[in-house]
Amino acid sequence: MNTKSVGPNGAGAADEVADAEDYKGYREPALGLLKQSHVTVWSTVVAVTSSGRFEGLVLPRSETSDAEHLVLKLESGYNVGLRYDTITELTKTGYRKAIYKVPEKEFPRDDSKPNVVLFGTGGTIASRLDYRTGAVIPAFTPGELYGSVPELADVCNLETEKLFGVFSENMGREEYLVLAERIGKAIREGCDGVMVGHGTDTMHHTAAALSYMVQDPPVPIVMVGSQRSSDRPSSDAARNLIAASYAAAHGPIAEVMVCMLGPTSHSYNLLHRGTRVRKMHSSYRSTFRTLGDVPLAMVNDEGLTHIHETWKPRRDDREVTIQAAFCDRVTILYYYPNMQADIVDAMVEKGYRGIIIAGTGLGHVNRLVYPALERARDAGVQVYMTLQTLWGFVQMNVYETGREILQLGVIPLANMLPEAAYIKLSWALGLHPDDPDRVRELMSTPVAGEITDGEPHDGYLLFQGGVPEMKELLSKTLS
Ligand code: ASP
Repeated sequence: MNTKSVGPNGAGAADEVADAEDYKGYREPALGLLKQSHVTVWSTVVAVTSSGRFEGLVLPRSETSDAEHLVLKLESGYNVGLRYDTITELTKTGYRKAIYKVPEKEFPRDDSKPNVVLFGTGGTIASRLDYRTGAVIPAFTPGELYGSVPELADVCNLETEKLFGVFSENMGREEYLVLAERIGKAIREGCDGVMVGHGTDTMHHTAAALSYMVQDPPVPIVMVGSQRSSDRPSSDAARNLIAASYAAAHGPIAEVMVCMLGPTSHSYNLLHRGTRVRKMHSSYRSTFRTLGDVPLAMVNDEGLTHIHETWKPRRDDREVTIQAAFCDRVTILYYYPNMQADIVDAMVEKGYRGIIIAGTGLGHVNRLVYPALERARDAGVQVYMTLQTLWGFVQMNVYETGREILQLGVIPLANMLPEAAYIKLSWALGLHPDDPDRVRELMSTPVAGEITDGEPHDGYLLFQGGVPEMKELLSKTLS
């Protein structure tokens, strides 16, 4: 360990590196406290603060973190930020450097098993320590994955490719296009199923993007993530990976799907259709829900049980249509009471070519924005209506407001989810930048289940209709 500072003649360059590693991400004033207490990153410490005593491991921080806090990983697995000036005593009790390298074991190949390609994009599923600290370990070679989740080898032969290493808020146009093209190539080259490891926050956006860009795949395309990193005892990473690999390798459904835990227990996973799924809870492991419909299927140790009556079956051919295009001049306008017209004008002035409104009730906004909607229409900006309620259909003929908004050229999008509509409009405008009629036609025609004929009668009530534990619960509660 070296705590010397860099010399004026640059001779301390090597020291600077040592310094940087020992205090990764820390700056004054928190850095001063660490040095003064002879504590470095990866020290185990006892910190006495004005709000209590904490024991934990000092974690590195990311470059963009503030300069005032020390971050400790507590025994519980949670991280806590301690402000340097609330710490009255900081004592080093040991040193436990995180092992960045996942032990690699050669992934066994078995010619009788299906071949699955796993594309890594980043997110918590690719993190072994804490993704907020910069201490991120992408476990994505087959050997690393096998080292962490050996059960995968019972399911399939796995080939992996790390395409990106981003948290999912950083997924966007470029990443969607690359992912769609690479999936197309893997399918044409003969894989039996595709998995995409992804951060959960925007997994439903990418699932929608792939649903439009990769049409009629002959094999399953299964997106998977985890809400808890795999260093935590409660991690859902292994469970989700095993279920997703099963769905990709052996499942009969050849659609773009999200595979995440159904309940917070680890008893089963759900497969959700890519255009009807949404992250609905910030921290539950069972965060993904199918909205406006029931999930496609359930996966547990016994195999796959269909829930939805209709799905596209797996085929033997290698044909797939890749339509990778994305216009980034599209936005979602989440309506709120007292919205002013100039917010819409600003979008038009800034060159936005499509607006998805998430309206109230059956599809409403206030009168104040009407003139701006008219100006948007006259400027050739396409404006569509979806619902904040997420469940139910846009119905603009019921109230006067709806009828007035229809007159302004706003097009209702049935039961398309706002995010699925945003991605679809970006895709349609990307494909047909100079053909507004074709874009309008595409928007109103379901491509991958984003518009359905109706909601299943038990879909909303059961929330995840057909799932046995929910049926049982409701039969007890309602009887
Ligand atoms: N922020 C992370 C992401 O979406 C969360 C996760 O992966 O669960 O990349």
